[in-house]
Amino acid sequence: MDLTAPSPADLAQCVHCGLCLPNCPTYLQTGYEAESPRGRIHLIGAFNDGRITATPAYREHLELCLVCRNCESVCPSGVHFGRIMEAGRAQLYERAQLSWRDRVFRRLAFEELLPHPGRLRAMVGALQIYELLGLQRLVRFTGLLPRPLAEAETLLPPIPAPFLPRWEVYPAIGRLRYRVGLFAGCVMPLVYGPVHWATLRVLRINGCEVHVPKAQVCCGALNVHGGERRVAAELARQNTRAFLGRGLDAIIVNSAGCGATMKEYAELLSEPEAREFSALVRDVTEFLASIDLVPPQRAVPRTVTLQESCHLVHAQRVKAAPRELLAAIPGVQLRDMPHADLCCGSAGLYMLTQPEMSTRILDEKMAGVRATGAETIVTANPGCLMQLHRGVQRAGLNAQVRHVIELLDEAYAA
Ligand code: SF4
Ligand code: SF4
Repeated sequence: MDLTAPSPADLAQCVHCGLCLPNCPTYLQTGYEAESPRGRIHLIGAFNDGRITATPAYREHLELCLVCRNCESVCPSGVHFGRIMEAGRAQLYERAQLSWRDRVFRRLAFEELLPHPGRLRAMVGALQIYELLGLQRLVRFTGLLPRPLAEAETLLPPIPAPFLPRWEVYPAIGRLRYRVGLFAGCVMPLVYGPVHWATLRVLRINGCEVHVPKAQVCCGALNVHGGERRVAAELARQNTRAFLGRGLDAIIVNSAGCGATMKEYAELLSEPEAREFSALVRDVTEFLASIDLVPPQRAVPRTVTLQESCHLVHAQRVKAAPRELLAAIPGVQLRDMPHADLCCGSAGLYMLTQPEMSTRILDEKMAGVRATGAETIVTANPGCLMQLHRGVQRAGLNAQVRHVIELLDEAYAA
């Protein structure tokens, strides 16, 4: 399996109709063909054929793409844009002369940090101490950090206690209906632990015996999006070993970005286990909307607006499920923002690597949120939670940012 070149068959699928252009956030911001899906496919094809080289401009066109896959949703030709872009980036980074800074960043992020839960825990623990000691307030007040670091620092949400489950298996509450695995991920259990606990409670209330295998690791999504596919393939292999063989009905994911990659493990691994694993993966909203949901009783009287996470709505094509769950919660009033399915500018590491474009997209998103007057913004992905949290601060809104599953959990609370 060639992990570092786009497939000519994928590239040939684009008929250059341009229908994707008005749905591409970077094209909408710039109006440039080279920042559109059609333009990028054309460029990747030319690079693959050796007609152009790895110039800084070529690299910028690829790196400015959010890999939000909105273009896939609207493409009449069924172009697998995400697959093309991920392979295109892998090919670029293999052929390009990278600066020492880029090499250090990629090595640190994709090889030394994300695949190692212990190292990540130490890093997030240090950030938690930074917040607890009040250093965050001091740094923000004094403006000590240089601009790019200060921008990155604003992304840091208040860090709660991590999700460190004591057991590998949690029994169902009441009658056993399903046996499911819970995918925890790398950053999510450290930064959004309460979302995992809420997911665990909601699944158990709905008759699920929940397996949280200790041997599971990062899904590899950030590596794949960054054009690093070899370590990602190894992570995929470790996850298939951790979850298969337990007699599970489903592997539940509450991070849309992770779920999208896990449903596509066959693009990284040729082993039959990859397909077996992917066939079991379900976003938590998708799974709950597909079963006979235990009706939540407690009212959650709140006006809510939904930011549809790109990797749920475009990559996994799960659109109705979050809305169905919100409709099942007594008291929730949904007010749609314009273009709820357009990216918020989070896109994994994009928030850090492309702060300017990320912020432009975010500020437009927040104007739409403000117009709804909603008290709570809900979404289904940790990156979106982080970015929207920053957006609320930038826009000076008095709104909460929550995962859909947290609202459902609140509606089940005694
Ligand atoms: S990606 Fe799809 S929608 Fe966009 S130009 Fe190509 S065929 Fe048309
Ligand atoms: S993935 Fe998103 S940003 Fe990239 S080309 Fe497609 S629509 Fe545009």
